[in-house]
Amino acid sequence: MYKKRRIKKKIIFLGVGILLIVALIITGIKLFTHFTSNEYKLTEIGYNEKEVNNILKLDDTYINYALNNKYDDDLIPLTKEKWFVWTKYDEYKKYIKNIQKQPTTKEIDYQDIVTKVNTKTNYKYYTHTKKTNMNLGNAILVNKYYKLPEKYAPNDVVDIPTTYAFAGNQARKEVFEAFKQMADAARSDGITLIINSGYRTYEYQKNLYDNYEKANGKEYADSYAARPDFSEHQSGLALDIVTYGMTMDNFENTDTYKWLIKNCTDYGFILRYPKGKEEITGYAYESWHYRYVGKSLAKKIEKSGLTFDEYYAYYLNKE
Ligand SMILES: [Zn+2]
Repeated sequence: MYKKRRIKKKIIFLGVGILLIVALIITGIKLFTHFTSNEYKLTEIGYNEKEVNNILKLDDTYINYALNNKYDDDLIPLTKEKWFVWTKYDEYKKYIKNIQKQPTTKEIDYQDIVTKVNTKTNYKYYTHTKKTNMNLGNAILVNKYYKLPEKYAPNDVVDIPTTYAFAGNQARKEVFEAFKQMADAARSDGITLIINSGYRTYEYQKNLYDNYEKANGKEYADSYAARPDFSEHQSGLALDIVTYGMTMDNFENTDTYKWLIKNCTDYGFILRYPKGKEEITGYAYESWHYRYVGKSLAKKIEKSGLTFDEYYAYYLNKE
């Protein structure tokens, strides 16, 4: 009887002991998992609960970045941007730092940061310039960052008859053919399209720029004319289109302009410098300046609602 009770007691002790050990092991594992969890590590780095939840929803690349770097309050807002590109992360950060140094900065506009870095407009115009990729044919980008090959001159330039342009104008053959079709269609709608300026040679652009510079300095010249090799007109793919008896500044109020905006992509042209996009294109709004890119690309660009500079960066020449 006595022996039996002792055995019973032993069994109880053993049972309780095992339970305790199991409980300890479970707690240990739980603590271990907690302290080694990404959630814990991110909290330790300085992210709050909301930020941690947001980071854990991102791809592994971003989670690893967050785990292996100091607290970064730009990470979540940047990755949320539609056109965010991970390979440009350092550039975004550098640009943000530069902006924050300026005394006028209040809040960081992440959409603006991403757009400008993607289109290289975070740099001052004409610095960090690069030769444009000529293999892209009608889709080449020429702006204050991407330049044409030195003293570039297309080899298929044609004279434009005065029924379609003011005297002395030229354009690349394909561009003029497209314009001709467009102008004829416009004419049957009672609209007259006239080319005010088409292809401009390197020498012409250089003279134009130099004269502005001589008169009032580089800054002034840059705000009125493109530098030689940086002008779309030198590519032979751009046309300034107006109508008779109208100044450039008034052009946007004409029926001709309305017709062009509605129909130009059907013939392969896009409005190159839209309103409100000055900081991306590098040019003030020009209701008269159209760029030939070919029909299918013109349609795609129109549908995207992007400037050509942005479309180029996202779809045509990712780098
Ligand atoms: Zn122009």
